[in-house]
Amino acid sequence: MTLNAQTYWAEHAWLGGVVEPGVLITTSGSGRVTAVEPGVPGPPVGAVSLRGLTLPGLANAHSHAFHRALRSVAQVGGGTFWTWRTGMYETAALLTPDTYYALARAVYAEMALAGITCVGEFHYVHHGRGGTRYGDPNAMAEALIAAAGAAGIRITLLDTCYLAAGFGERPEGAQLRFSDGTAEAWAERADALRPTVTARLGAAIHSVRAVPADALATVARFATDRGLPLHLHLSEQPRENEDCLRAHGRTPTALLADHGALGPRTTAVHATHLTDADIALLGRSSTATCLCPTTERDLADGIGPAGSLRAAGSPLCLGSDSHAVIDLLAEARGVEHHERLRSRVRGHFTAGQLLRAASEDGHAALGWPEAGRLEPGGLADFTTVALDSVRTAGPPPRLALEAAVFAATAADVRHTVVGGLHIVRDGDHQLVHDVPHALRTAMAALRATR
Ligand SMILES: [Zn+2]
Repeated sequence: MTLNAQTYWAEHAWLGGVVEPGVLITTSGSGRVTAVEPGVPGPPVGAVSLRGLTLPGLANAHSHAFHRALRSVAQVGGGTFWTWRTGMYETAALLTPDTYYALARAVYAEMALAGITCVGEFHYVHHGRGGTRYGDPNAMAEALIAAAGAAGIRITLLDTCYLAAGFGERPEGAQLRFSDGTAEAWAERADALRPTVTARLGAAIHSVRAVPADALATVARFATDRGLPLHLHLSEQPRENEDCLRAHGRTPTALLADHGALGPRTTAVHATHLTDADIALLGRSSTATCLCPTTERDLADGIGPAGSLRAAGSPLCLGSDSHAVIDLLAEARGVEHHERLRSRVRGHFTAGQLLRAASEDGHAALGWPEAGRLEPGGLADFTTVALDSVRTAGPPPRLALEAAVFAATAADVRHTVVGGLHIVRDGDHQLVHDVPHALRTAMAALRATR
């Protein structure tokens, strides 16, 4: 991706917790913000005009790009998380580096159109069919990194260790593609990946189901030694907790704590079914929580204790996970709405707190602490939400953030800028010119390999 020096004029921008009118944002050739100047009534000559409310770029902290191929398909037939997983494995079995590149490029382009400037890809489809190694053992991860670059967004490739079908069970079927055999072999392969200007690396423990207890510390140490983010699926379903208690006599959270996997660089994804002691452990260790409300609803997972986790000290971030929809604004308000349904009380999170989860705290969880705020020195990643659509028109400008977080959808995103580069201009992706076509052809190619 080439990086450009450019000046943008935002009609409104969210700066330091308040909405300011007329904000000049100057970016450098190195993709950073060099100046932020509020109170500029109109666009100076040469500045790109951003009509609407400009926000820091959104961070999608939890993605499995190939799940996009299950959209709508998975809405037929009912069932549970576990029956959904069977269909998901059938899709995973079809992927090759080439078809996954094409699909992920289209999915990441859809993300850019939704205002997402950075994605955390929780990647575990490492090997060929039956577990056969590719000539380049990281061909799949490289395809995802290249796809994000082609779609103009940043990526943190969270290379995921996946070794078991369940507690004491060998991987089978599609899972053979996920497994490196041992945690040491996983570490050796993951260590060969290299970051780029727009791609960083992280480690992941798929879950306590898929990584045996005696391998947890190896993955945790890999991340600690290299200063990388560590992500893990935690207690998405009650069955995981029951199986873990039976196998180890402790909850997944306690097991992870025992093996050094919690801490300020760790993000627990879902964290839906927790005990009070689990919540205290996550909070005390400053482990972040990534909530994925649209997926958790879609998969009938349950409602995670977002308010209690935040109160305990766990920073919150957001992900679109299964991509039933890709809309970080919907994820943000979903956190508050789920709390309202549970408590029958309104007002647990302000629009500002929800947006911070969608931007600053999401970037921090993905290892991009210099992104997620509109300020000099930060990465020039931002997005503009229309305030003149049928969903957002009407409220006074001082409530623009409430309009964006509680009423706008991804369809209201007009502009996305990454590293100073105008990736989405007036709703059009500048690198992937017909994103619906790219999605359609990528999924048709995948189905043709059945
Ligand atoms: Zn996930």
